[in-house]
Amino acid sequence: SLEVSGVELAFGSNKVLRGVDLVVPAGQTACVIGPSGSGKSTLLRAINRLLEPHAGDVKLGGESVLRGDPDVLRRRIGMVFQHFNLFPHKSVLENITLPLRKIKKLDADAAQAAARAQLELVGLAHKAGARPGNLSGGQQQRVAIARALAMQPEVMLFDEATSALDPELVKGVLALMADLAAAGMTMVVVTHEMGFAREVADQVAFMDHGVVVESGVPGQIFGTAESPRLRQFLSQVL
Ligand code: ATP
Ligand code: MG
Repeated sequence: SLEVSGVELAFGSNKVLRGVDLVVPAGQTACVIGPSGSGKSTLLRAINRLLEPHAGDVKLGGESVLRGDPDVLRRRIGMVFQHFNLFPHKSVLENITLPLRKIKKLDADAAQAAARAQLELVGLAHKAGARPGNLSGGQQQRVAIARALAMQPEVMLFDEATSALDPELVKGVLALMADLAAAGMTMVVVTHEMGFAREVADQVAFMDHGVVVESGVPGQIFGTAESPRLRQFLSQVL
């Protein structure tokens, strides 16, 4: 399981995370929802050690991930961003082999084989030699997901993975994420897609002003929410 407890993080005097608690049992999917600026992206970055929390802990399988080699952690936790973050001057295949070679230390043949297998799984084997810029946004995001999955992570973090996509491309990426969840991946999904949260999440966590205000099964969050702030948020987005 992934256990976030009491995580605090500030940018200067701006306290962005003010004691975040979130537990995601192995194999489950937690969707994180909440208003802009509530700290959702910062939370994912803290989990992945792109940012260092000032207090609190993040545990994976019972051990803290805040100490030790960040590269080891990034093998265990994959992250997918809104804007894909692919290397534009490398081929699709190279985008996937690069971290396999650098971080996982695979040799060229093993990296290629793993990358091709993963591209196959996201339905893009035929694009292996293309540059990311020649792919649709939805295809680029599937490459980014393949790149993260190729590392065989224990947890996948998604930060608004479909927000930058044209509406007709959103469905395919959400379907891939739903497949991953159904296959038993442990996932934390920051999303504005309330339909996805309702249907796929085991748990929905509502963040506001740097804390998880309320969390529960989708039926609770979307049906019988207690927090007035959550009710207000939902009335604006649904
Ligand atoms: P959105 O839904 O718009 O993506 P969010 O919930 O992901 O919002 P964050 O990106 O985590 O929000 O930002 C939370 C707060 O932290 C904001 O006030 C933001 O200005 C601040 N912040 C985020 N990143 C930085 C940074 N690198 N330096 C300084 N302040 C930052
Ligand atoms: Mg964000």
